Amino acid sequence: MSARSRQADGPHTALAARLRDMTRLRRPVWVFDIDRAQVCWGNPACLELWQASTLDDLMSRDMGADMTETVANRLRQYQADFSRDEQCQFTEVWTLYPNGVPCTMDVVFSGIRLDDGRMAMFCEADAREAYDADALRSAEALLHTSVMITLFTANGLPLYRNPAARSSVESADETLGEHFANSATLQRLEQASEDEINLIAPVHSKRGQCWHDITARRCLDAVTGEHAWLISEVDVSRLKATEERAQFLAEHDTLTNLPNRNHVSTAFQHRIDRHLAAGESGALVFIDLDHFKDINDTLGHDAGDLLLIEVASRLKSVIRECDTVARLGGDEFLLMISPLSTRITVLEIVNRIRRVTAKPMELQERDIAVTPSIGISLFPENGRNINDLLRHADLAMYHAKDTGRNDFAFFSQHLSDAVESRISLEAELTVALGDEQFVTHFQPRVDVQTNAITGAEALVRWQHPTKGMVSPATFIPACESSGLIAQLGKVVFRDSVRAQRDWAAKGHVLRVSVNLSPLQFSEDSLVEELVDIVREEDGNIDGIELEITESVLLGHDESTIDKLNALVALGFRVAIDDFGTGYSNLAYLNRYPLRCLKIDRSFIQSLDSARPIVELIVSMAKLFELDVVAEGVETQAQLEALRAYNCQEYQGFLFEKAIDFDAFTALLSRHEVKRCA
Ligand code: C2E
Ligand code: CA
Ligand code: CA
Repeated sequence: MSARSRQADGPHTALAARLRDMTRLRRPVWVFDIDRAQVCWGNPACLELWQASTLDDLMSRDMGADMTETVANRLRQYQADFSRDEQCQFTEVWTLYPNGVPCTMDVVFSGIRLDDGRMAMFCEADAREAYDADALRSAEALLHTSVMITLFTANGLPLYRNPAARSSVESADETLGEHFANSATLQRLEQASEDEINLIAPVHSKRGQCWHDITARRCLDAVTGEHAWLISEVDVSRLKATEERAQFLAEHDTLTNLPNRNHVSTAFQHRIDRHLAAGESGALVFIDLDHFKDINDTLGHDAGDLLLIEVASRLKSVIRECDTVARLGGDEFLLMISPLSTRITVLEIVNRIRRVTAKPMELQERDIAVTPSIGISLFPENGRNINDLLRHADLAMYHAKDTGRNDFAFFSQHLSDAVESRISLEAELTVALGDEQFVTHFQPRVDVQTNAITGAEALVRWQHPTKGMVSPATFIPACESSGLIAQLGKVVFRDSVRAQRDWAAKGHVLRVSVNLSPLQFSEDSLVEELVDIVREEDGNIDGIELEITESVLLGHDESTIDKLNALVALGFRVAIDDFGTGYSNLAYLNRYPLRCLKIDRSFIQSLDSARPIVELIVSMAKLFELDVVAEGVETQAQLEALRAYNCQEYQGFLFEKAIDFDAFTALLSRHEVKRCA
């Protein structure tokens, strides 16, 4: 039962009896129910102080209505203090606002238990004649501020805490030393020579460990005159957390939460330095997922993201405690394996990587497996700084990809030399293009039955100023990797259009085939440029055949297919080159606008064993109404066999190798030519 109802019922309890004795006091006294923020008892003098007409009027007031958060916290703190120690008592200068008019007095307050067991506050007011305005305001400020202010003796015992400080500490007895979470903080204060020290340090608080911005000032205690510490503190935990988060974000990848490239370039270098100083070695393992782009393109970026997250967690599961996985971006990951006793450790980890990534993962109700290509560099053997090591691991990874993907390679000087020579080859090729060192040769295409020339394939040659004639097999790949192929391809195409036109003008109407690199299809303007060249040279589109490889069709790239269709619509014919060596997915023979299949040389060269394949290709071509050309025919026996299979055309050294324009023109004048349809 509350004190209020008790008074109405008459004096039954000790509390009621005690309060009844207080009624006669001249000093204002009242009981404040902290939980309900209401006065629940008061004597007549207090009614006067609060300017209330009756006790009911006072008790009906909601004191919580305009109570600030700091005051509310402070009251709860007192309630807790009273519960712990029923004898404790505080004196503060309070300014009350009965009906909005400020009224200042000294208030002594202590705990009092209500009949229902809850802890309330018993208040006795003592109005003084006058208060110094400044003292009054500073006392109020100290009570209300959220800055935590504590006065400690020189030995660190607490002398005074303002309410903000009191409500933040676990125990009122906490010493300065106990307050700091690190013993180093107290040492810093004690050893400082200045009178005021400012620092940000972790402290113990009721809410666990917090970061406080602390100002500690040496001063004298106004009561004893002895040396003391005045400590003011502000909680900066949130700021600190934001700062840490920002730091984390700068060095981590948000998708996988793994360290990112920034982290690698700084933290990895420190680690390498530490290992090297200790005489230890380690490895960088560069991982690139094969065909990740296809997954992104076919299943969408969300599925791609899920896959990367899964791969990240699998990679983490295979490394040792001391190793680190980072994501360099895209589908590239980097492992730092250190310290390392033998290469065996790296190989074990690499094997584990290949095992865990090979396990299918379910994406959009499909089981997807990825394979990684892995490159490894070792320190100190392959370098001492992170940039070199990263470059070397990257190079080794590319080598692994070149050798057919899903493989791994260690960096070696040999690899590096190969790259060096490729780079210098690319530089030479750029010069060669400018100096017109490339010439287009033509190899005749011949009718298997009649030996009449039916066409010519344009094959580029490099007339190197010192090395002589260089084979395209060595420089075409370098042209592709450097991007020069676009330009070179156009040179060959122009030569071919001119040759076709000139031969037709002499009455030899035959078709000229030009090889197009898959990389030329990534040029947006391919179609327009080819058409422009035909127009500029006054050539014949229907006299030109474009040879593409199966990889062009298997790229599943919409824009490539669009270009192919556009070229066919303009009148170009399209042939599949090197047929049988790729995926030989028969479905596309039907799907794409093809006119001709060129059977790869390797089948003709091993005709005995490849016979069923060649027969199959020939009959399939008939089915789809495609022309068939056998490449690389070198012997009469091969030609006889092709005749028996009903293959239409062939190319090969048996008839003629690729020769220059003039030689080909001479050949046409002395040989039968079958006019192209
Ligand atoms: P490809 O398109 O398969 O060209 C046929 C290759 O087989 C040519 O080699 C040709 O000289 C060779 N060859 C022809 N008959 C025989 C034979 O009876 N026996 C043997 N052993 N070989 C024969 P080449 O000229 O060295 O060209 C190699 C490759 O370089 C070509 O293979 C083609 O992929 C590429 N290439 C050549 N010129 C160009 C071009 O202008 N553009 C593009 N993108 N690639 C080209
Ligand atoms: Ca070809
Ligand atoms: Ca070929």
